[in-house]
Amino acid sequence: MAKTRPGGIISKPKTGKRDLESYTIRGTTKVVRAGDCVLMRPSDTGRPSYVAKIEAIEADSRNNVKVRVRWYYRPEESLGGRRQFHGAKELFLSDHYDVQSAHTIEGKCIVHSFKNYTKLENVGAEDYYCRFEYKAATGGFTPDRVAVYCKCEMPYNPDDLMVQCEGCKDWYHPACVDMTIEEAKKLDHFMCSECASDDDVKRSQNGFSASSLAEVKARLFSILFPFFWRFIFVALIYPIYCA
Ligand SMILES: [Zn+2]
Ligand SMILES: [Zn+2]
Repeated sequence: MAKTRPGGIISKPKTGKRDLESYTIRGTTKVVRAGDCVLMRPSDTGRPSYVAKIEAIEADSRNNVKVRVRWYYRPEESLGGRRQFHGAKELFLSDHYDVQSAHTIEGKCIVHSFKNYTKLENVGAEDYYCRFEYKAATGGFTPDRVAVYCKCEMPYNPDDLMVQCEGCKDWYHPACVDMTIEEAKKLDHFMCSECASDDDVKRSQNGFSASSLAEVKARLFSILFPFFWRFIFVALIYPIYCA
């Protein structure tokens, strides 16, 4: 009995199911393996492709190849929906697992850590990032808090240009400090209005201004906030309304 066949089969012959080491995407030469991220064709053609992480690849006794996947959710697929700080390429790693026909795999993609994504020189069509894990049943995020920046106190959206203040080291959206994006791109140095006036005070009084960097780091945005209000509504207000 042959133990292996082209396609790298690790044999488990008695169960009728065999684990495969790899799968070649139909109509391409691209090979996917466990651990790879893939784009999967949605049943509704109007929707963007689904993104999943391959957990395992297996073939049944009829040689139908199936993939066990862990879904990534796009912000609009989450209970809280897409919010201002979500980038176009943002995905949440969900706790939602599934088995799909390998034929629905359209292509490969890369889901970067947030840090690595922000360091990319060029973001290609296949580049995505993930900074949150997402519980599909409850809409909960891990971590449930992220640092916020700027006067508007928003988490960083890597699609939006920001400028860093040389004084407090906080980052600002040009629009929030009355600048156009073009003006911001031309800047060599930037001081936010608070640091600029601190500077004047320092110069005039020769005083000491404590860095507000610690303050910047302490400001966190609670991702749970909208879910909290949703909970209050569903658990308390809605029953009263319906009574
Ligand atoms: Zn802002
Ligand atoms: Zn500043």
